Amino acid sequence: MNSPFDSYLTQLESSLKFLKEDFSENDIEAAKKILSRPDRVIEKILKVKLGGTETKLIAYRSQHNNALGPYKGGIRFHQNVSKDEVKALSAWMSVKCSVVELPYGGAKGGVVIDPKNLTESDIENICRAFSREMHDYIGEKVDIPAPDVNTGEQEMAWMLDEYEKVTGFKSPGAFTGKPLVLGGSKGRTEATGLGGFYVFDAYAKSRNIIPSKTTIVVQGFGNVGYWFCYFALKAGYKVLAISDSSGALVHKTCVDIDEVSELKSKYRSFLEASKHTNKYSFATNDELLAMNVDVLAPAALENAITGKNANFVKAKIILELANGPVSPDAETKLLSKGVEILPDVLCNAGGVTVSYFEWSQNISGYYWSKSQVYKRLSKKMFGAFDKIAKLKALKNISSYRQAAYAFSLARIISAMKFRGWLGK
Ligand code: NAD
Repeated sequence: MNSPFDSYLTQLESSLKFLKEDFSENDIEAAKKILSRPDRVIEKILKVKLGGTETKLIAYRSQHNNALGPYKGGIRFHQNVSKDEVKALSAWMSVKCSVVELPYGGAKGGVVIDPKNLTESDIENICRAFSREMHDYIGEKVDIPAPDVNTGEQEMAWMLDEYEKVTGFKSPGAFTGKPLVLGGSKGRTEATGLGGFYVFDAYAKSRNIIPSKTTIVVQGFGNVGYWFCYFALKAGYKVLAISDSSGALVHKTCVDIDEVSELKSKYRSFLEASKHTNKYSFATNDELLAMNVDVLAPAALENAITGKNANFVKAKIILELANGPVSPDAETKLLSKGVEILPDVLCNAGGVTVSYFEWSQNISGYYWSKSQVYKRLSKKMFGAFDKIAKLKALKNISSYRQAAYAFSLARIISAMKFRGWLGK
């Protein structure tokens, strides 16, 4: 199986060929060399007290490219975090920020830890240690972290607090995804799922897809999966199943999001919940991927669909809400079967877009209403889909991913060229 960074390199290589009319061969070669590795990867050992015991954890921050502006990207707490993974996620962030025309480059951070059984105070200790060790490399004009898997507004609040203690000045724009009271933006919590919904809605409108006749399954019931479901259900789509890491709850006609949320908080896992309800049946995550529906929305982790299970997928549309959920070999198989893949760099760009709104509000000190945030997010996501769809048609590009990459890379390469990074 491809590592996530190998997937990125394959995607980079296969998209640069569409820029031959826009840049010289030398420029493309020079840009490829720069974009094929992050600018730097910072690796630190965090010494933290977990359950009262001094423990050493590995933490990373990968800064991929900052031609368009300061580095930007989330911080993930997960046992499978690796250097390769943060490198890939930081590169995807560079592409993503440029897809939605934000003045940012790409970064990503992570701590190798399974936070499931940690106490609140353990997690606070990890957040503060991360900020202390990384404060020299982050800042509102340098590199701006945000939440990702297993981190949210509380983690950002602790990190910001520690950052401000160490640096000695208030700097709310150094982290996004903060609580409202610390300078967070209205609409940030739901932004990634809502942004994904706007992209899907734009695509659906372009294909005359009727919500009430369209079935969806969602893999992952975290921040992104939950909010995507919420808005898709509100628009009348039929969400038939939703999973967490234990498996999926399946309904014959349409899930009820409040009911599913209640079951999840009561029983902690869908597997356990399925034993206490007769409204929903249970499916494994493999069975969920193979369900006979119109849309499959992976919203958990990378490499959910690989060359091994791609042939089982029956959905005609894949909406990549997670980062890197479809590996390149799976993509080749799916595209040849006529499956349309709406790529992560577009579908989950709503989160970083509202993070950008948050940062802009922090810098200006002027705060927006929720309806202003939604309106501007909708304009960004519909606008990005439209530009990518047009480029796809104009350059006769077969996949939305390659079209999104071509659009994004053209902007990054142009910025690097103006800066004089590509040589003469
Ligand atoms: P989260 O931690 O809130 O939720 C992750 C969910 O995935 C959980 O329900 C977990 O149980 C489930 N999961 C984990 N492993 C699974 C497996 N093997 N099978 C099925 N489900 C599994 O994380 P999130 O913030 O919702 O992020 C989800 C994805 O979206 C990640 O790829 C993340 O990088 C990406 N993303 C998140 C944001 C954001 O703003 N949160 C923005 C852009 C991209």
